[in-house]
Amino acid sequence: MSTAAASSGRPHVLVVPFPPMGHLLPLLDFSHLLSTRHCVRITVTVTPSCLHLLSDFLASTPLAAALPLPLPDPSAPEHAGQIAPGTHHALLAAPLSTLRGSLVSWARSQLDPPTTVLSDFFLGSAQLVADDLRVPRVAFYGVGAFTTAALEQLWNSTLPLDPNNDAALSALPGSPSFPYGHVPSVVRSYVPGDPDWELVREGFLLNSRAWGAVVNTFDAMESDFLEHLKRRFGHGRVWAVGPVANSGCRVGERPTAEAEELFSWLAGCPERSVLYVCFGSMYKPPLSQAAALGAALEASGVRFVWAVSADVAVFPDGLEERARARDKGRVVCGWAPQMEILRHASVGAFVTHCGWNSTLEGVAAGVTLVAWPMKADQFIDARLVVDVHGAAVRAAEGEDAVPDSGALARVFAGAVEGAELGGVRAKARTLAAAAGDAVEEGGSSWLDFERMVKELEAVSAP
Ligand code: UDP
Repeated sequence: MSTAAASSGRPHVLVVPFPPMGHLLPLLDFSHLLSTRHCVRITVTVTPSCLHLLSDFLASTPLAAALPLPLPDPSAPEHAGQIAPGTHHALLAAPLSTLRGSLVSWARSQLDPPTTVLSDFFLGSAQLVADDLRVPRVAFYGVGAFTTAALEQLWNSTLPLDPNNDAALSALPGSPSFPYGHVPSVVRSYVPGDPDWELVREGFLLNSRAWGAVVNTFDAMESDFLEHLKRRFGHGRVWAVGPVANSGCRVGERPTAEAEELFSWLAGCPERSVLYVCFGSMYKPPLSQAAALGAALEASGVRFVWAVSADVAVFPDGLEERARARDKGRVVCGWAPQMEILRHASVGAFVTHCGWNSTLEGVAAGVTLVAWPMKADQFIDARLVVDVHGAAVRAAEGEDAVPDSGALARVFAGAVEGAELGGVRAKARTLAAAAGDAVEEGGSSWLDFERMVKELEAVSAP
């Protein structure tokens, strides 16, 4: 491939993230690794309302800079309540395509222009920027290889899908199929013929033209799906480098008085006795669901930490006061230091929506995952940890589920206190050890990362 001249001879990577936190965080973790381990220069495009989220990243990544872009940010307060689920993608795809010209002009005006474009897989149209600059593009998949493979088949199939039939992913290892409601929401939201949605689909299809693919997963977790992707993309440049969150430069994890109080309470709890509940950075449970969950937590008798990133109104009345009075738990309203909580010795289980980051973080921490997938790729991730690996248990399914709190309480109690849970705990420990080994020097993810940098350096050489 012919590349633009790089005046420094070192790679300069133009990073194009997708704004929601579940996408932004792993891409920043990966960029941080690239820059600090291999002196790669990084420029991150960012929407103005997300700029503050980059401050920890920029402070800990000396060779990185931000390039603010006038893109709308679906998570910004001015859009609250106006954006229907699934339309994030349509909202962003069109403006990104209009910014192609200005990104290319900016790149051409640099003394040390980008030698690679690294974009979130939701923004496959960044391929066109890379084409204009005649540099390679790396697609970053902050989801698992199973989801990546599923999306690849789904976007290439006849759409829309028939809501009355299961989606059969017959090309994938194990030929899995999913009920229509469990298919990633972005595919179900697609509106054929709608110009914005056509751009979204084109963007996903452009991913197969990327020079390379980086997946935030590790070999022992998804080797079959990684091999499948190599076959589908037609080259071996599919690198499994995860879990990237081990890099320890997480945004929003600064010590606060609340966090200090939480960790001092956790320090007084017996080992592995606490159940941590969090459904990611965006999900707000409806009140009936939150009530069932609260009742189950209290009935289970287990110690708990329940984090809701958005809204205190979600927690059932009096729950926090009773939990404190009985020394049974804490609620966190706002951004919880999730990685640190999961790694705390007193935390034994994690009720999760199975967002991919949470799934990997829980797996790496070796806690028992209690799966409650809600939407997006979460049903696929739950299938992987519960059914493929047998390393997690199920609590409930779906955004509308309001499970019986007695039954839920039994699942919660079993997850932290039960015996071996039919081998689940042992399998979770094995997977956790494999995740740790993968990122150690000489491990599968460490080696893939080094191979990727070598190839990137080779194509970036002047
Ligand atoms: N997260 C966090 N504190 C919170 C909520 C979320 O640190 O209070 C982090 C979590 O550790 C994970 C990410 O935000 O890295 C959420 O990503 P995930 O893929 O699990 O779910 P999403 O937010 O995309 O639904």
